[in-house]
Amino acid sequence: MAHGMERLITKLRNERRLEAEEYRALLVCDDGEVSRKLQKAARETALARFGNRIYIRGLIEITNICRNDCLYCGIRKSNRKTERYALDKAEILECCRTGYGLGFRTFVLQGGEMPEHSDRMIEDVCKAIHAEFPDCAITLSLGERRAESYERFFKAGATRYLLRHETHNPEHYSLLHPAEMSLEHRLQCLDTLKGIGYQTGTGIMVGSPFQTFGNIVEDIMYISDFRPEMIGIGPFIPHKDTPFAGYGTGLVDSLPVDIIGLTLKLISIFRLMFPDALIPATTALATLAPDTALPGGRELGILSGANVVMPNLSPAGVRHRYSLYDNKASTGAEAAEGLAKLEASLKRIGYRITIDRGDFSGRLTRQSL
Ligand code: SAM
Repeated sequence: MAHGMERLITKLRNERRLEAEEYRALLVCDDGEVSRKLQKAARETALARFGNRIYIRGLIEITNICRNDCLYCGIRKSNRKTERYALDKAEILECCRTGYGLGFRTFVLQGGEMPEHSDRMIEDVCKAIHAEFPDCAITLSLGERRAESYERFFKAGATRYLLRHETHNPEHYSLLHPAEMSLEHRLQCLDTLKGIGYQTGTGIMVGSPFQTFGNIVEDIMYISDFRPEMIGIGPFIPHKDTPFAGYGTGLVDSLPVDIIGLTLKLISIFRLMFPDALIPATTALATLAPDTALPGGRELGILSGANVVMPNLSPAGVRHRYSLYDNKASTGAEAAEGLAKLEASLKRIGYRITIDRGDFSGRLTRQSL
């Protein structure tokens, strides 16, 4: 293995940061042994901090109605083929009841970007979940909203918010989004969320159209400064009814790369930068590397330093309509009701599920499932 790379891994492990060119060198290096060493260092760091426990979050996809038109996303407003739905308060609470019974202590409410007048409904739902399940955490992933809306939701009981910045390069951002969206506003939202006191998550898609290694390094430098509590990294997967339908999975700098390998490398880098962070093994990773071949994407993510999985708790009848990309996994171990399968697949790699809110501070009591 190249001596220089080994030195970088040790430096990242000890100092928790590298220079931009050093991150780049690690990312472009295609030596399998370097990847294995990086993965091992990240896995050891996660094990030292969290043991072999993996947090579970119940993902409730509350609506696929969206006013935005992100070019990569299957639920973008211009996709007329999507059959739209919105869960009401009673349906969301029912998902939480099912999830609570299964052992979930965090509910993630994710959806397309709803109009401002939906504030009251979201606030109401947060209050109701908080009242019925006071021992559970509420995470929101509802996109860009006004600061007063974020504040209302926080007061109503939501304490975590996921908002991937998607790319920190303004030009790249403009190639992925319509003219009315701006990177500046997205970053402002992230600052606002942090300022309010949310545990805040951000992240990127790996291999998104027009992405370069330089862009990914910019993302790492931004995340290094922003210091999010949660970091979501998943591969870009095209959706057939979007402008990026024909865009292949796995291009960076316009060249084919091992996109699963690059995603795992980034998970490992972020684990070494932020030993305490909550880093999911994403559904997109599990979709691209299904667990028909073991280890699948979810397990590979965990073996690379991830410590969270987010099984789908949405009503079975709407799951196929929350289609962000082609063949999105929502059954088997990706489904909340498939927890036994998830548990078995984690057990095979030496991990187990934990019932725990799993806050960033990690101070709450743990109880194994
Ligand atoms: N509207 C909210 C937002 O923008 O944060 C939440 C929902 S949005 C669908 C959640 C995430 O899905 C996005 O941040 C994006 O990274 C991811 N996503 C969308 N389309 C994707 C695709 N084609 N491949 C992989 N991930 C995708």
